[in-house]
Amino acid sequence: MEPIILDGTRTARAIREELKEETRALTERGVEPTLAVVLAGDDPASATYVSMKQKACAQTGVRSEAYALPASASQQEIIDTIASLNARPEVDGILVQHPLPKGLDEMAVMTSIAPGKDVDGVSLASFGALALGVAQYASCTASGIIELLDRYNLPIQGRHTVVVGRSIIVGKPAMLLFLQRNATVTVCHTRTHDLAHHTRQADILVAAAGQPEMITGDMIQRGAVVIDAGCNRIEGRKGDVGDVHFESASRSAFAITPVPGGVGPMTIAMLLRNTIRSAQGRACG
Ligand code: NDP
Repeated sequence: MEPIILDGTRTARAIREELKEETRALTERGVEPTLAVVLAGDDPASATYVSMKQKACAQTGVRSEAYALPASASQQEIIDTIASLNARPEVDGILVQHPLPKGLDEMAVMTSIAPGKDVDGVSLASFGALALGVAQYASCTASGIIELLDRYNLPIQGRHTVVVGRSIIVGKPAMLLFLQRNATVTVCHTRTHDLAHHTRQADILVAAAGQPEMITGDMIQRGAVVIDAGCNRIEGRKGDVGDVHFESASRSAFAITPVPGGVGPMTIAMLLRNTIRSAQGRACG
């Protein structure tokens, strides 16, 4: 049987339509939701992701500002840019495009974002709050995954969720959000022994390892829901490639996200939603 394709593009479009109403109401009150995106370095993939975010902002009535710093920018220069954005009341959200150039302390940079504007939930304060279940904003990718499951009415509570990857930006926040939703969570990483043994037990499998097509059909339990957060560029292949081998995984999965068109658009939709929530907080004074 063909799996259900969890269409992130269509779902994100529906979310953007809902958000447009909210931006309209804010704009009528004189508040224009504003997102500032900080990009450091010259990674072409990062530049593409930033322009996709700006396009989605424009489609939703969110104003966006981009700050492109050269790869030679020092950590202090990036932190100073963030500090100036923190100080401007009309900036509702700040996103620092990940990854930063090598050699920079990403945690120090992320933690310089004011918690109220940390719409991707990457600072120490946001992450701590997420661990305690009281986060204002959680990672957009992890929230986008949960939102996609909810929109397809796929239950989370009690499901064994296996997350492959433990990064600050995807794996760990996904672990915490699934736990909050009463899933039973296993987290795998590079030191996990016999990865396939774990992935085969997943009712919901979240692949966030950054390894092209590493999850193959034989690693998936029949009837599982497979979420592919992977977004990898391979020389000689057009477009982004996921962490899941879509064709073989589709033979076992009950539902599966495509790449592109799965988690990526949902991430951007959550970024818009969080920025608008922050602007709503500003509107309420
Ligand atoms: P990181 O490189 O920061 O983390 C990768 C994680 O996967 C690490 O925890 C690593 O383990 C683990 N891992 C790597 N290889 C293996 C392996 N062979 N077996 C088991 N675990 C492994 O990546 P990110 O979390 O930033 O990104 C993951 C993927 O998600 C990438 O493809 C990225 O492009 C994509 N992404 C997509 C987004 C979207 O909007 N769709 C947004 C952000 C990321 P260890 O900790 O032991 O090193």
